[in-house]
Amino acid sequence: MFRTPKGTHDVLPEDHQYMTYIKKAVRHRARQAGYKRIETPMFENKAIFERGIGEHTDIVEKELFMVSGKKNDEDSAGLALRPEFTAGICRSYIEHGMHQLPQPVEFYSFGPCYRYDRPQKGRYRQFHQFDMEIIGLKDPSIDAQLILVISKILTDLKIRGRLKLQINNIGTTENRQAYIESLKDFFIGKERNLPELDQKRLKTNPLRLLDSKEEDTQIILKSAPVMDQFIDDDSKEFHSTLIGYLDELGVEYEKNATLVRGLDYYTQTVFEFWDESTGAQNAVGGGGRYDGLIELLGGRSTPGVGFAGGVERMIWHMKEAGVKAPFKDQVDVFVAQLGPEAKKKCLTLISDLRDRGVHTLGALGEASLKSQMRLADKFGARYTLLLGKMEVKSGTIIIKDMEAGKQQEIKFKEAIPTVLKFIGEENLDTYTLRDKFVDVDED
Ligand code: AMP
Repeated sequence: MFRTPKGTHDVLPEDHQYMTYIKKAVRHRARQAGYKRIETPMFENKAIFERGIGEHTDIVEKELFMVSGKKNDEDSAGLALRPEFTAGICRSYIEHGMHQLPQPVEFYSFGPCYRYDRPQKGRYRQFHQFDMEIIGLKDPSIDAQLILVISKILTDLKIRGRLKLQINNIGTTENRQAYIESLKDFFIGKERNLPELDQKRLKTNPLRLLDSKEEDTQIILKSAPVMDQFIDDDSKEFHSTLIGYLDELGVEYEKNATLVRGLDYYTQTVFEFWDESTGAQNAVGGGGRYDGLIELLGGRSTPGVGFAGGVERMIWHMKEAGVKAPFKDQVDVFVAQLGPEAKKKCLTLISDLRDRGVHTLGALGEASLKSQMRLADKFGARYTLLLGKMEVKSGTIIIKDMEAGKQQEIKFKEAIPTVLKFIGEENLDTYTLRDKFVDVDED
Protein backbone atom coordinates (compact mmCIF):
# COMPACT_ATOMS: atom_id res chain seq x y z
CA MET A 1 0.00 0.00 0.00
CA PHE A 2 1.31 3.43 -0.88
CA ARG A 3 1.52 5.96 1.91
CA THR A 4 2.25 9.69 2.14
CA PRO A 5 6.00 10.35 1.95
CA LYS A 6 7.81 10.66 5.28
CA GLY A 7 7.06 13.90 7.07
CA THR A 8 4.03 14.79 4.94
CA HIS A 9 0.34 14.37 5.63
CA ASP A 10 -2.96 14.59 3.82
CA VAL A 11 -5.07 17.54 4.88
CA LEU A 12 -8.29 15.62 5.29
CA PRO A 13 -11.69 17.35 5.09
CA GLU A 14 -11.97 17.68 8.87
CA ASP A 15 -8.69 19.60 9.12
CA HIS A 16 -9.49 21.52 5.99
CA GLN A 17 -12.31 23.21 7.84
CA TYR A 18 -9.74 24.58 10.26
CA MET A 19 -7.38 25.52 7.47
CA THR A 20 -10.09 27.38 5.55
CA TYR A 21 -11.09 29.17 8.74
CA ILE A 22 -7.50 30.25 9.38
CA LYS A 23 -7.14 31.40 5.77
CA LYS A 24 -10.30 33.46 6.09
CA ALA A 25 -9.15 35.07 9.33
CA VAL A 26 -5.77 35.93 7.79
CA ARG A 27 -7.33 37.30 4.61
CA HIS A 28 -9.86 39.36 6.52
CA ARG A 29 -7.34 40.99 8.88
CA ALA A 30 -4.77 41.40 6.10
CA ARG A 31 -7.23 43.18 3.82
CA GLN A 32 -8.39 45.47 6.60
CA ALA A 33 -4.78 46.58 7.01
CA GLY A 34 -3.98 47.01 3.31
CA TYR A 35 -1.92 43.87 2.72
CA LYS A 36 -2.10 42.43 -0.79
CA ARG A 37 -1.94 38.76 -1.63
CA ILE A 38 1.17 37.47 -3.35
CA GLU A 39 1.99 33.99 -4.60
CA THR A 40 5.60 33.10 -5.34
CA PRO A 41 6.78 29.75 -6.75
CA MET A 42 7.07 26.79 -4.45
CA PHE A 43 10.68 26.43 -5.53
CA GLU A 44 13.41 29.00 -6.13
CA ASN A 45 17.07 29.15 -6.93
CA LYS A 46 18.67 27.77 -3.79
CA ALA A 47 21.16 30.67 -3.69
CA ILE A 48 18.23 32.90 -2.64
CA PHE A 49 17.84 30.88 0.53
CA GLU A 50 21.57 30.44 1.09
CA ARG A 51 22.27 34.15 0.84
CA GLY A 52 19.19 35.28 2.68
CA ILE A 53 18.61 32.77 5.44
CA GLY A 54 22.34 32.03 5.79
CA GLU A 55 24.56 29.17 4.66
CA HIS A 56 25.26 27.99 8.19
CA THR A 57 21.72 27.96 9.50
CA ASP A 58 19.94 24.65 10.13
CA ILE A 59 17.34 25.54 7.52
CA VAL A 60 19.91 25.84 4.72
CA GLU A 61 22.65 23.53 5.89
CA LYS A 62 20.48 20.55 6.75
CA GLU A 63 16.90 21.19 5.80
CA LEU A 64 16.80 22.42 2.20
CA PHE A 65 14.72 20.13 0.04
CA MET A 66 16.43 20.06 -3.34
CA VAL A 67 14.45 19.83 -6.56
CA SER A 68 15.85 17.95 -9.47
CA GLY A 69 14.18 18.28 -12.82
CA LYS A 70 15.70 16.39 -15.68
CA LYS A 71 19.25 15.16 -15.46
CA ASN A 72 21.81 17.57 -16.91
CA ASP A 73 19.18 20.28 -17.30
CA GLU A 74 20.78 23.56 -16.35
CA ASP A 75 17.46 25.33 -15.76
CA SER A 76 16.52 22.99 -12.98
CA ALA A 77 19.95 22.70 -11.41
CA GLY A 78 20.30 24.25 -7.96
CA LEU A 79 16.61 24.64 -7.23
CA ALA A 80 15.18 24.11 -3.76
CA LEU A 81 11.65 23.95 -2.36
CA ARG A 82 10.94 27.03 -0.27
CA PRO A 83 11.60 26.51 3.45
CA GLU A 84 9.79 29.83 4.14
CA PHE A 85 8.30 32.77 2.24
CA THR A 86 10.35 35.85 3.04
CA ALA A 87 13.35 35.30 0.75
CA GLY A 88 11.12 34.50 -2.25
CA ILE A 89 8.88 37.51 -1.65
CA CYS A 90 11.93 39.78 -1.42
CA ARG A 91 13.24 38.27 -4.67
CA SER A 92 9.89 39.13 -6.26
CA TYR A 93 9.98 42.70 -4.87
CA ILE A 94 13.36 43.23 -6.53
CA GLU A 95 12.52 41.43 -9.77
CA HIS A 96 9.39 43.50 -10.36
CA GLY A 97 10.91 46.84 -9.36
CA MET A 98 8.40 47.27 -6.56
CA HIS A 99 10.49 50.01 -4.97
CA GLN A 100 8.67 52.25 -7.48
CA LEU A 101 5.33 51.56 -5.80
CA PRO A 102 4.16 53.70 -2.89
CA GLN A 103 6.05 52.38 0.16
CA PRO A 104 5.65 50.40 2.26
CA VAL A 105 4.41 47.48 0.19
CA GLU A 106 2.46 45.02 2.30
CA PHE A 107 2.07 41.40 1.28
CA TYR A 108 0.43 38.32 2.64
CA SER A 109 0.66 34.74 1.46
CA PHE A 110 -0.50 31.28 2.46
CA GLY A 111 0.83 27.91 1.34
CA PRO A 112 3.09 24.93 1.86
CA CYS A 113 6.77 25.13 2.87
CA TYR A 114 9.33 22.35 2.93
CA ARG A 115 12.11 21.47 5.33
CA TYR A 116 14.09 18.28 5.20
CA ASP A 117 13.77 17.79 8.91
CA ARG A 118 13.50 14.73 11.12
CA PRO A 119 9.74 14.39 11.43
CA GLN A 120 8.27 14.56 14.93
CA LYS A 121 5.20 16.01 16.59
CA GLY A 122 4.58 19.49 15.18
CA ARG A 123 7.57 19.22 12.83
CA TYR A 124 6.98 18.03 9.30
CA ARG A 125 8.73 18.03 5.95
CA GLN A 126 5.75 19.68 4.31
CA PHE A 127 3.81 22.13 6.43
CA HIS A 128 1.81 25.29 5.82
CA GLN A 129 2.54 28.84 6.76
CA PHE A 130 0.74 32.11 6.49
CA ASP A 131 3.11 34.94 5.91
CA MET A 132 2.98 38.73 6.16
CA GLU A 133 5.64 41.17 5.01
CA ILE A 134 5.94 44.97 5.10
CA ILE A 135 8.71 46.21 2.83
CA GLY A 136 10.09 49.66 2.13
CA LEU A 137 9.70 51.67 5.32
CA LYS A 138 11.46 51.47 8.63
CA ASP A 139 9.71 52.71 11.74
CA PRO A 140 8.84 51.04 15.04
CA SER A 141 5.18 51.80 14.31
CA ILE A 142 5.38 49.45 11.31
CA ASP A 143 6.64 46.61 13.54
CA ALA A 144 3.95 47.39 16.10
CA GLN A 145 1.19 47.36 13.48
CA LEU A 146 2.36 44.03 12.09
CA ILE A 147 2.44 42.48 15.56
CA LEU A 148 -1.03 43.88 16.28
CA VAL A 149 -2.52 42.36 13.11
CA ILE A 150 -1.02 38.95 13.94
CA SER A 151 -2.23 39.25 17.50
CA LYS A 152 -5.75 39.98 16.21
CA ILE A 153 -5.66 36.96 13.90
CA LEU A 154 -4.64 34.73 16.82
CA THR A 155 -7.42 36.28 18.91
CA ASP A 156 -9.94 35.64 16.11
CA LEU A 157 -8.85 32.01 16.12
CA LYS A 158 -9.30 31.95 19.92
CA ILE A 159 -5.74 30.85 20.65
CA ARG A 160 -4.06 34.14 21.58
CA GLY A 161 -4.55 33.39 25.28
CA ARG A 162 -2.57 30.15 24.95
CA LEU A 163 0.44 31.97 23.51
CA LYS A 164 3.07 34.35 24.84
CA LEU A 165 4.61 36.96 22.58
CA GLN A 166 8.40 36.95 23.10
CA ILE A 167 10.22 39.99 21.81
CA ASN A 168 13.82 41.15 21.52
CA ASN A 169 16.06 43.48 19.53
CA ILE A 170 19.25 41.93 18.18
CA GLY A 171 20.71 45.19 16.86
CA THR A 172 22.24 45.87 13.48
CA THR A 173 24.27 43.40 11.40
CA GLU A 174 27.44 45.08 12.73
CA ASN A 175 26.26 44.80 16.34
CA ARG A 176 25.55 41.17 15.84
CA GLN A 177 28.93 40.55 14.24
CA ALA A 178 30.69 42.21 17.17
CA TYR A 179 28.70 40.11 19.62
CA ILE A 180 29.48 36.93 17.71
CA GLU A 181 33.21 37.75 17.86
CA SER A 182 33.04 38.32 21.59
CA LEU A 183 31.14 35.05 22.10
CA LYS A 184 33.82 33.24 20.11
CA ASP A 185 36.55 34.85 22.24
CA PHE A 186 34.72 33.94 25.40
CA PHE A 187 34.54 30.28 24.40
CA ILE A 188 38.25 29.99 23.58
CA GLY A 189 39.52 27.21 25.87
CA LYS A 190 35.97 26.22 26.85
CA GLU A 191 35.05 24.40 23.63
CA ARG A 192 35.68 20.97 25.06
CA ASN A 193 33.08 21.51 27.77
CA LEU A 194 30.40 21.97 25.16
CA PRO A 195 28.28 19.10 23.81
CA GLU A 196 29.31 18.04 20.30
CA LEU A 197 26.46 19.77 18.49
CA ASP A 198 27.17 23.05 20.25
CA GLN A 199 30.90 22.81 19.48
CA LYS A 200 29.86 22.77 15.84
CA ARG A 201 27.44 25.65 16.34
CA LEU A 202 30.22 27.67 17.93
CA LYS A 203 32.16 27.37 14.69
CA THR A 204 29.33 27.99 12.24
CA ASN A 205 26.59 29.99 13.96
CA PRO A 206 27.53 30.91 17.57
CA LEU A 207 24.31 32.86 18.21
CA ARG A 208 22.44 29.59 18.10
CA LEU A 209 24.19 28.66 21.36
CA LEU A 210 21.91 31.11 23.13
CA ASP A 211 18.82 29.04 22.48
CA SER A 212 20.63 25.72 22.94
CA LYS A 213 18.64 23.14 24.90
CA GLU A 214 21.82 21.65 26.36
CA GLU A 215 22.18 22.22 30.09
CA ASP A 216 26.02 22.33 29.96
CA THR A 217 25.90 25.08 27.37
CA GLN A 218 23.39 27.10 29.33
CA ILE A 219 25.57 26.87 32.48
CA ILE A 220 28.63 28.19 30.64
CA LEU A 221 26.54 30.91 29.02
CA LYS A 222 25.65 32.32 32.44
CA SER A 223 29.05 34.02 32.56
CA ALA A 224 29.23 34.85 28.84
CA PRO A 225 28.91 38.40 27.51
CA VAL A 226 25.29 39.34 26.92
CA MET A 227 23.97 40.70 23.67
CA ASP A 228 22.56 43.84 25.23
CA GLN A 229 26.10 45.24 25.68
CA PHE A 230 26.59 45.21 21.91
CA ILE A 231 23.35 46.78 20.78
CA ASP A 232 23.81 50.36 19.58
CA ASP A 233 21.80 53.29 20.92
CA ASP A 234 19.66 53.66 17.80
CA SER A 235 18.52 50.04 18.04
CA LYS A 236 17.80 50.45 21.75
CA GLU A 237 15.73 53.53 21.08
CA PHE A 238 13.93 51.76 18.22
CA HIS A 239 13.08 48.94 20.59
CA SER A 240 11.86 51.07 23.45
CA THR A 241 9.66 53.05 21.06
CA LEU A 242 8.23 49.79 19.71
CA ILE A 243 7.57 48.55 23.24
CA GLY A 244 5.82 51.86 23.99
CA TYR A 245 3.58 51.38 20.94
CA LEU A 246 2.72 47.82 21.98
CA ASP A 247 1.76 49.13 25.42
CA GLU A 248 -0.35 51.82 23.81
CA LEU A 249 -2.10 49.18 21.67
CA GLY A 250 -2.60 46.85 24.63
CA VAL A 251 -0.58 44.01 23.09
CA GLU A 252 0.85 41.75 25.79
CA TYR A 253 4.47 40.67 25.40
CA GLU A 254 7.43 39.35 27.33
CA LYS A 255 10.92 40.81 26.80
CA ASN A 256 13.33 37.98 26.05
CA ALA A 257 17.00 38.97 25.83
CA THR A 258 18.07 35.57 24.49
CA LEU A 259 15.62 35.35 21.61
CA VAL A 260 17.66 35.31 18.37
CA ARG A 261 15.68 33.29 15.78
CA GLY A 262 17.39 30.76 13.56
CA LEU A 263 17.74 32.82 10.40
CA ASP A 264 20.66 35.07 9.56
CA TYR A 265 18.76 37.84 7.83
CA TYR A 266 17.20 39.30 10.94
CA THR A 267 18.23 42.68 12.29
CA GLN A 268 16.76 44.58 15.22
CA THR A 269 13.25 43.41 16.09
CA VAL A 270 12.71 39.67 16.49
CA PHE A 271 9.61 38.08 17.98
CA GLU A 272 7.90 34.72 18.39
CA PHE A 273 4.60 33.48 19.72
CA TRP A 274 5.36 30.66 22.17
CA ASP A 275 3.16 28.00 23.54
CA GLU A 276 2.42 29.16 27.09
CA SER A 277 3.30 25.74 28.50
CA THR A 278 6.12 24.35 26.35
CA GLY A 279 7.91 27.52 25.23
CA ALA A 280 10.16 27.85 22.19
CA GLN A 281 9.88 24.22 21.18
CA ASN A 282 6.39 24.75 19.92
CA ALA A 283 6.44 28.30 18.64
CA VAL A 284 3.35 28.96 16.59
CA GLY A 285 5.07 31.62 14.56
CA GLY A 286 7.88 34.08 14.45
CA GLY A 287 9.23 37.04 12.60
CA GLY A 288 11.28 40.14 12.68
CA ARG A 289 13.00 42.93 10.83
CA TYR A 290 15.36 42.22 7.92
CA ASP A 291 16.77 45.53 6.83
CA GLY A 292 19.75 44.01 4.99
CA LEU A 293 18.03 41.18 3.12
CA ILE A 294 16.93 42.92 -0.07
CA GLU A 295 20.39 44.34 -0.63
CA LEU A 296 21.88 40.92 0.07
CA LEU A 297 19.67 39.52 -2.69
CA GLY A 298 20.88 42.14 -5.17
CA GLY A 299 18.35 44.94 -4.69
CA ARG A 300 18.89 48.45 -3.40
CA SER A 301 19.03 48.91 0.37
CA THR A 302 15.42 48.48 1.54
CA PRO A 303 14.10 47.79 5.03
CA GLY A 304 11.51 45.13 5.75
CA VAL A 305 9.71 43.32 8.54
CA GLY A 306 7.71 40.11 8.40
CA PHE A 307 6.11 37.18 10.16
CA ALA A 308 5.32 33.54 9.43
CA GLY A 309 2.78 31.45 11.32
CA GLY A 310 2.73 27.64 11.33
CA VAL A 311 -0.75 26.54 10.29
CA GLU A 312 -0.53 22.93 11.56
CA ARG A 313 0.51 24.14 15.00
CA MET A 314 -2.30 26.68 15.00
CA ILE A 315 -4.82 23.96 14.14
CA TRP A 316 -3.42 21.86 16.99
CA HIS A 317 -3.93 24.75 19.42
CA MET A 318 -7.44 25.40 18.17
CA LYS A 319 -8.35 21.78 18.79
CA GLU A 320 -6.70 21.79 22.22
CA ALA A 321 -8.65 24.92 23.09
CA GLY A 322 -11.88 23.22 22.00
CA VAL A 323 -12.43 25.66 19.13
CA LYS A 324 -14.69 24.13 16.53
CA ALA A 325 -14.24 25.39 13.01
CA PRO A 326 -17.60 26.00 11.34
CA PHE A 327 -18.86 22.84 9.65
CA LYS A 328 -19.92 23.74 6.13
CA ASP A 329 -20.17 20.34 4.53
CA GLN A 330 -23.51 19.19 5.90
CA VAL A 331 -25.81 17.34 3.51
CA ASP A 332 -29.20 19.10 3.33
CA VAL A 333 -30.99 16.79 0.96
CA PHE A 334 -30.50 13.29 -0.29
CA VAL A 335 -32.44 12.36 -3.41
CA ALA A 336 -33.43 8.70 -3.69
CA GLN A 337 -35.06 7.30 -6.81
CA LEU A 338 -36.16 4.13 -8.46
CA GLY A 339 -36.57 3.36 -12.14
CA PRO A 340 -35.21 4.99 -15.30
CA GLU A 341 -37.88 7.73 -15.54
CA ALA A 342 -37.37 8.79 -11.92
CA LYS A 343 -33.62 8.79 -12.39
CA LYS A 344 -33.90 11.15 -15.34
CA LYS A 345 -36.16 13.58 -13.46
CA CYS A 346 -33.88 13.48 -10.42
CA LEU A 347 -30.83 14.62 -12.33
CA THR A 348 -32.46 17.98 -13.06
CA LEU A 349 -33.97 18.18 -9.60
CA ILE A 350 -30.56 17.68 -7.95
CA SER A 351 -28.95 20.24 -10.21
CA ASP A 352 -31.70 22.82 -9.53
CA LEU A 353 -31.53 22.28 -5.77
CA ARG A 354 -27.76 22.81 -5.83
CA ASP A 355 -28.17 25.98 -7.85
CA ARG A 356 -30.55 27.30 -5.19
CA GLY A 357 -27.89 26.75 -2.52
CA VAL A 358 -29.06 23.41 -1.10
CA HIS A 359 -26.28 20.88 -0.43
CA THR A 360 -27.68 17.94 -2.33
CA LEU A 361 -26.50 14.38 -2.83
CA GLY A 362 -28.13 11.79 -4.99
CA ALA A 363 -26.87 8.30 -5.25
CA LEU A 364 -28.11 7.72 -8.73
CA GLY A 365 -27.21 4.06 -8.79
CA GLU A 366 -29.55 1.11 -9.03
CA ALA A 367 -29.86 0.34 -5.30
CA SER A 368 -33.23 -0.31 -3.66
CA LEU A 369 -35.10 2.62 -2.08
CA LYS A 370 -34.52 1.04 1.32
CA SER A 371 -30.76 0.92 0.98
CA GLN A 372 -30.74 4.45 -0.46
CA MET A 373 -32.57 5.60 2.67
CA ARG A 374 -29.95 3.94 4.82
CA LEU A 375 -27.28 5.74 2.84
CA ALA A 376 -29.08 9.07 3.31
CA ASP A 377 -28.98 8.42 7.03
CA LYS A 378 -25.27 7.62 6.97
CA PHE A 379 -24.54 10.82 5.08
CA GLY A 380 -26.42 12.68 7.80
CA ALA A 381 -28.92 14.22 5.34
CA ARG A 382 -31.56 16.43 6.95
CA TYR A 383 -34.20 15.63 4.33
CA THR A 384 -34.67 12.91 1.79
CA LEU A 385 -36.67 13.26 -1.40
CA LEU A 386 -38.04 9.97 -2.70
CA LEU A 387 -39.12 9.48 -6.26
CA GLY A 388 -40.31 5.98 -7.14
CA LYS A 389 -42.23 4.67 -10.14
CA MET A 390 -45.59 5.44 -8.48
CA GLU A 391 -44.68 9.03 -7.75
CA VAL A 392 -43.50 9.59 -11.32
CA LYS A 393 -46.88 8.42 -12.54
CA SER A 394 -48.84 10.64 -10.16
CA GLY A 395 -46.55 13.68 -10.57
CA THR A 396 -45.67 13.68 -6.87
CA ILE A 397 -42.62 13.20 -4.67
CA ILE A 398 -42.15 12.20 -1.03
CA ILE A 399 -40.21 14.43 1.34
CA LYS A 400 -38.95 12.92 4.57
CA ASP A 401 -37.61 14.77 7.59
CA MET A 402 -34.85 12.39 8.66
CA GLU A 403 -34.63 13.50 12.27
CA ALA A 404 -38.34 13.61 12.97
CA GLY A 405 -38.91 10.50 10.88
CA LYS A 406 -42.01 12.10 9.33
CA GLN A 407 -42.80 12.11 5.65
CA GLN A 408 -45.40 13.60 3.31
CA GLU A 409 -46.26 13.36 -0.33
CA ILE A 410 -46.25 16.63 -2.24
CA LYS A 411 -46.59 17.69 -5.87
CA PHE A 412 -43.32 17.20 -7.76
CA LYS A 413 -43.20 20.86 -8.74
CA GLU A 414 -43.53 21.81 -5.09
CA ALA A 415 -40.35 19.91 -4.21
CA ILE A 416 -37.94 22.83 -4.47
CA PRO A 417 -40.09 25.51 -2.75
CA THR A 418 -40.84 23.04 0.07
CA VAL A 419 -37.19 22.20 0.61
CA LEU A 420 -36.26 25.88 0.59
CA LYS A 421 -38.96 26.63 3.16
CA PHE A 422 -37.86 23.77 5.43
CA ILE A 423 -34.18 24.63 5.29
CA GLY A 424 -34.66 28.35 5.64
CA GLU A 425 -33.40 31.09 3.36
CA GLU A 426 -30.59 32.00 5.79
CA ASN A 427 -29.07 28.52 5.61
CA LEU A 428 -28.75 28.35 1.84
CA ASP A 429 -25.26 28.12 0.46
CA THR A 430 -25.58 30.67 -2.29
CA TYR A 431 -22.55 32.28 -3.75
CA THR A 432 -22.78 35.48 -5.69
CA LEU A 433 -19.93 37.59 -6.92
CA ARG A 434 -20.88 40.71 -5.03
CA ASP A 435 -18.08 42.73 -6.50
CA LYS A 436 -18.64 43.88 -10.04
CA PHE A 437 -15.91 43.55 -12.61
CA VAL A 438 -14.35 46.87 -13.40
CA ASP A 439 -15.77 47.94 -16.78
CA VAL A 440 -13.38 47.27 -19.57
CA ASP A 441 -12.83 50.25 -21.79
CA GLU A 442 -13.67 49.11 -25.31
CA ASP A 443 -11.32 51.57 -27.03
P1 AMP B 1 10.40 29.76 11.61
O1 AMP B 1 10.50 30.97 10.75
O2 AMP B 1 11.40 28.70 11.30
O3 AMP B 1 10.38 30.12 13.07
O4 AMP B 1 8.99 29.13 11.27
C1 AMP B 1 7.80 29.83 11.56
C2 AMP B 1 6.75 28.88 12.06
O5 AMP B 1 6.50 27.86 11.10
C3 AMP B 1 7.15 28.14 13.31
O6 AMP B 1 6.89 28.89 14.46
C4 AMP B 1 6.28 26.90 13.23
O7 AMP B 1 4.99 27.16 13.73
C5 AMP B 1 6.19 26.64 11.76
N1 AMP B 1 7.17 25.60 11.36
C6 AMP B 1 8.48 25.76 11.09
N2 AMP B 1 9.05 24.60 10.74
C7 AMP B 1 8.07 23.67 10.79
C8 AMP B 1 8.00 22.25 10.52
N3 AMP B 1 9.08 21.57 10.12
N4 AMP B 1 6.82 21.63 10.68
C9 AMP B 1 5.71 22.31 11.07
N5 AMP B 1 5.70 23.62 11.32
C10 AMP B 1 6.86 24.30 11.19
